[in-house]
Formats: sequence, structure tokens, C-alpha cells
Amino acid sequence: MSLFVRVALDHPLPTLFDYRYDLAPTPLPGMLVRIPFGRRDAVGMICEVTDRSDVPLDKLRDVAAICSTLAPLAAEWRALTLFAAEYYQRGLGEVALPALPQVLRDASRWAKLLAPEERYRLMPEGRASLPDALPARATALRRLAEALAASPTLPAADARALHPKARATLDEWQMRGWVSLETGDVAEQDIALAPQIEKAALHASDALLPQLSAEQADAVDAIRGAQGFAAFLLHGVTGSGKTEVYLHALADLLSARPDAQALVLVPEINLTPQFEAAFRTRFAALPEGAIVTMHSGLAEGERARNWLAAHTGRARLVLGTRLAILASLPKLSLIVVDEEHDPAYKQQEGLRYSARDLAVYRAKELGIAVVLGSATPSLESWWQAEQGRYTKLTLTRRAVATAVLPSVRLIDLEEERQRGRASVEGLSGPLIAAMKTRLERGEQSLVFLNRRGYAPILSCDACGWVAGCPRCSAYVVLHKPERALRCHHCGWESRIPKSCPDCGNVDIAPMGRGTQRVEETLATAVPGARVLRIDADSTRRKGSAQALFSDVHAGEVDILVGTQMIAKGHDFQRVTLVGVLNADTALFSHDFRASERLFAQLMQVSGRAGRAGLPGEVMIQTRYARHALYHALARHDYVGFANSTLAERRDAHLPPFVYQAMLRAEGRTLEAALDFLGAAAAEFTGLAGAERVTVYDAVPLTIVKVFNVHRAQLLLECASRAVLQNALRAWQPALRSLKVKGVIRWNVEVDPLDI
Ligand code: ADP
Ligand code: ZN
Ligand code: ZN
Repeated sequence: MSLFVRVALDHPLPTLFDYRYDLAPTPLPGMLVRIPFGRRDAVGMICEVTDRSDVPLDKLRDVAAICSTLAPLAAEWRALTLFAAEYYQRGLGEVALPALPQVLRDASRWAKLLAPEERYRLMPEGRASLPDALPARATALRRLAEALAASPTLPAADARALHPKARATLDEWQMRGWVSLETGDVAEQDIALAPQIEKAALHASDALLPQLSAEQADAVDAIRGAQGFAAFLLHGVTGSGKTEVYLHALADLLSARPDAQALVLVPEINLTPQFEAAFRTRFAALPEGAIVTMHSGLAEGERARNWLAAHTGRARLVLGTRLAILASLPKLSLIVVDEEHDPAYKQQEGLRYSARDLAVYRAKELGIAVVLGSATPSLESWWQAEQGRYTKLTLTRRAVATAVLPSVRLIDLEEERQRGRASVEGLSGPLIAAMKTRLERGEQSLVFLNRRGYAPILSCDACGWVAGCPRCSAYVVLHKPERALRCHHCGWESRIPKSCPDCGNVDIAPMGRGTQRVEETLATAVPGARVLRIDADSTRRKGSAQALFSDVHAGEVDILVGTQMIAKGHDFQRVTLVGVLNADTALFSHDFRASERLFAQLMQVSGRAGRAGLPGEVMIQTRYARHALYHALARHDYVGFANSTLAERRDAHLPPFVYQAMLRAEGRTLEAALDFLGAAAAEFTGLAGAERVTVYDAVPLTIVKVFNVHRAQLLLECASRAVLQNALRAWQPALRSLKVKGVIRWNVEVDPLDI
């Protein structure tokens, strides 16, 4: 009897592909196979094993190879990727395969990747003889011997990398019987042999740990007591010690069960080092390799190793950015999503998923707890909690006994101007004075401005020329240190012209302010201050963000200026002043989520002040000092803001009271994109349930042209998630067969964040 396998491939068609299987190892769902696909080879995942296929036998091709050394991807993981594929309107293979490390998707690299690791072990003879056998000045060899002596076994690759001649030396020592080279997953054996980590060991340094506040203890108890699926919304003001709650919940879990795995998500790569350090210190009792990170900043090899560690169960604690939600974690028992409101949890290309939403789904399927933490929960999560679907855990106070929330002061720029008070390049008098005071006291200030570059506009007063991008419908940003004009949408770059290209006027001037300009102004406005800028430009090199943040923590910086990169999560100890510039634009955005985002951002950045007990102050420069959002912020009133914004959303029939999806099209011309959307909308009206869905008119995006591509979108809205889902699925074949000349791409986004 022949066997057939149905395989998911990274292919836009949402179908499985049938292959004949007559290799030796028994195929199982979740195993990877190499198969011929068209004229090339591809890697796919077995979804089903059957004894019949609807494809005619002469059309069926054979599986070329099977990856039997990798444990099959678990049913839970396959169900997760299938759900994500269906919910976000993609093919299963398009979700499952890209979620695997690159090396696994290349069958020629399976052997090497999955080969049992070689490790050197220092034998008793070597331990005895080596110290005397080495010449006194052979420091490199001595280092090698020390590394061998320091742990039971040393990965061969690490040992050989210690010195150019290490390999030859190790061969020689092996011949003498001083070291042995072992294969097989020694590390895994070590785990099996490792005594169960005692709860006491994980809580060993309890005496040194901060005493949990009553609120923190209640939160930890609630998480500990969860049975089966439970979603917790940990709403804690900035500095309330949410991390400490996570750490306790994690310690409980990791010590209770020797195989349990936990996943902790953070919104940004830059926040991983801080958490990783906390985990490594707190969970030092875990075996080596039990804590791994997953984010896009890792080199390919490391990413693959960490993925494998999670997949084999060796990794107990995985810390990662949004992509880690799709990691294979066979023993996953707790998920933490820190700063759950952060838009960075939404993937904006390819599979447009929300890692936070998938975390909740995954927890529900597994029957485990998920903790969503934030000082400013997303209104979606807040609404879930209000309805009792999530359990609210509240931390109302800062954790450090002497720390209080900063006082927030609005600086009315209009009033400043009318009273003729001096300002320097957009920095108001009161803000400059406050920074000077901080400098005298040896405290740090932070200036937040969500715009990088020197100036957003370079223009000519004489003729009205403005420097624009030739490829986008956008102005280019002046970058002074780089001496360039740069398009922030497509990356186009040019030198800064010396005169107006239209009229020859040499008086072209930058308008508006970005972080670079503020950095420049600060140098003279606050004499003697050491100013540091952190934004996407100053941290382009790998690892540089980390180095810059270390300088801030080390007190080598007096004023930190930056974009939202500096606003999030960092636990700065000596920042007592936060200045906010240029926040007003977001008050009047066409995007209904802009105010929610602004409130969260300002609350986050304000939360950097006064964390360690020194009184903190926040100064917001604004032309709209009466705006309700700023007043809620000044009162630290998230709940008031959330409830009034939710009421507005309810009246306006906006999420979370309705569900949305967006069809976006990109064309060589705007007409092409709009035509496609028009045709798509016409197809939609015929679908079942379509009458319950509101289809809005197709509109151009705010920045309609990017990199010579014209973009437009069509919004769909429905009070029922299920009805919308079904209609979207039924729409797919029509969308795929729509042919409109000049259309380059289209995609459907479910639960879009940017409208
Ligand atoms: P959040 O994430 O809620 O903004 P953090 O978890 O960063 O806050 O905690 C803020 C500060 O409070 C940290 O420096 C942390 O070490 C400290 N901290 C947390 N819990 C306690 C506690 N129970 N007692 C004293 N200090 C604490
Ligand atoms: Zn001009
Ligand atoms: Zn451009």
C-alpha cells in the first residue's frame, strides 16, 4: 500500500500539496520534508499522512527526503499556525514555514544543523598533567586549558575558536588522552541528570529581593492560582514593579515543573537586554542554555540554535519580540506580554498578525495563563477586562517606597509667546530653566520628540520650493550630521543643495525641528550639559543602542534626547525631568487611534521620570493646553481617559465595538489601485453575509506614493467578527482572480491598527 503525505509549502495558495511517500522513516504530521516543486526543491511541513490521494497517480511526485532527526512540530503549534493563517487570510504554509529558522528551510543544511554537537571533555589525566605541561608564557593555551577545566564539557566550536592553533593542540591533547571528544547531545543528557531545580534554589536570594508590595503580592497570587486558561490584564502605573510580578510568576512556574516553558514578549529589541539580565540573575539556578532570546537582531546561526533549544524543550524561558509568539514551545505553560498596548506587536508586512492577540489565542488553546502588562492597556484589552473576560490586576502605586508619580505641567506655548517670554529654537524658557536645575543637581533630563532628523522640511522663502522625494509624495528630511536629505519612506538620499534648485535663491532654510536640531540647540541652551541623542539614526550599527543606553545608566549623560525609542520600558534611575516637544500634531489625526497612541506614549515617557525616589517632573509644551487628553495625563488618569475614549468609540461605532479589515492595493498609478479596490468591492457585495458588512469607499493613503508605487485602501467593518471572517474568506478566490492592469500587489489586513 502506498503512503501519501499532504504538505504545507511557503506558497500563496492556501492548499496543501500531495506527494507520494516511500522512504524508510515513518512520516508523521509536523515533520519537515524536501520535495520537488516545479523545477526546484522546496522544504515543506507534513500536515497529514494518508493512504489515498485525489491527485492522479502519474501526477504525483515523491518526497525526496525527510528530516527525521527533528522532533515533529507539535499539534498545538500546527493548530496555532493554521489559526493564524485562517484568521489573517493567508496560506498555512505561508505562516508555518517562515516561522521556522532559515536554516531549517534549506534541506542541504539539515545535516549540519541537526548533527549532534561535538564537545570536549577534560579527562582526569589532563586535569593532572596539563598545568605542568604548559610553558609559562603560553597564555593562549593556558586559557584553553582553563576553559576546559571550568565546565564538564565545552562545545568543540567554542574551544576551537579560542586560538588559531587550538584545533591542532586539542588533537594532540586528545592523542595523549588528556581530553576526549564526545558527540551526542551531551547537554541534553546533562539536563536529564541535573537534579530538579529546587524551588528554594530559584528563590534562593529571596532575602535580597525587594519585599513585594501588597498589590504585587495579590497579583502574583492571582496568577499562581489560575487554573486552565486565564487572561490577566496587569494594569500597573509606570514604575509599579510589573517586572517583579512577572519574575515571581515565572519563578513559581519554573520551579514547580522541571519541564515547563514560559514565553515573555517585549515590544522592542532594545528592551531585551534589560529583561535578559534580570532573568539571568534571578534564574541563575537554571541549567546553562535554559534562557534564550528570539528577535530579528540575532545572527542566523544563533537564531536557529535558540529556536531548536525551544523546540527540544531545553530552553525553559524564551524572551523575544513579536516573532517569538510563533516559536515551537512544546511545554509552554505561561505567556507574558509586556507593554501589551504597544503597536510594535503588530506585524506590518507579510502575515499581518498581532502577537498579543495570538498570545491570548495560544493560551486559550493550551489552557494556560497569559499576563498582559501595561500602564496604558490597549482599549481592546481594557474593554475585554471591563466585560470580565480578562481578570484585571491593578498596581496603583510605584514600587519603590519613596517614589511617586511625576507631576505633569503643561507649558502653554501660546501664552509664552503672548507674554513675550524667551524661548530658544522651540525650547521654552521654563523647560530650559528646569534642565539647568537638573544639571546643577547632577540629575538627568530626557527630551522626547517623535521626529528624527534635523528638520522635516527644507524650503525656499523666495519661490516656495520645498525639497521633496522624487519617488514619494512626501517631503524629504534634512539630516545635518550626515549632510544629506533623506526620504523616510523609501530611503532616497541626496546632498543638501546650496541654493534653491528652482530659483537659485541661496537662502533656503530648514523648517521645523527633529531630534538632531534639538540636540544641537541643547548644547548651547544648557551650557555644560552632556547631551546624547538616541533615535533610529544614532543607533544604526548593531549593538550601538545598547551601548548608548548603558552610558545613560552609567550617568555619563545629562540630557537624553530621542524618539519613542527612549520612551519605552527603560528603568532610568536618575531621570527626574521629562520634556515633551511637538506632541500636538497627533491630537488632530484622521486616525481614530492617534489619541490612544499619544496618551500611551506620553504616559510611558512621563513614566521615565522619578522612578528611584527622586521627585520627577514632566513638562509638556503645547498650543492646546486645555485639551482633555493632556489633562487626563496630568492627573495620571488612564482609567478616565480609557472609559471616555471607549464611550466615544461606542457612539461612533469604532473598534473594539466593531471589527475591521482593510484591503490595500498598490499600483503603478493611483487609478489602477482604486480600480482594483472598486472591482473588489463589487465582488464583495455578492458574498454571503456581505449585507452585514459596511464597505467604505476606496481612498488613497495619506502618503499616496511611496517608491513610485501608488497606494489606496478599502475599509470593511462589521459588528460580528465571525461574519466578517467568513466573508473575507469567501472573498479570497475572487480577489486572487481579479486582473486589473497596473496593479502590483494587494493584501488584506485583519484588525488593522493604522487607518
Ligand atoms: P514597571 O515595569 O511597572 O514600570 P519596573 O518593574 O521597572 O516597573 O519596576 C520599577 C522599579 O521598582 C525597579 O527599579 C524595580 O527594581 C523596583 N521594584 C519593583 N518591585 C519592588 C518592590 N516590591 N520593592 C522595591 N522596589 C521594587
Ligand atoms: Zn526658490
Ligand atoms: Zn521617498
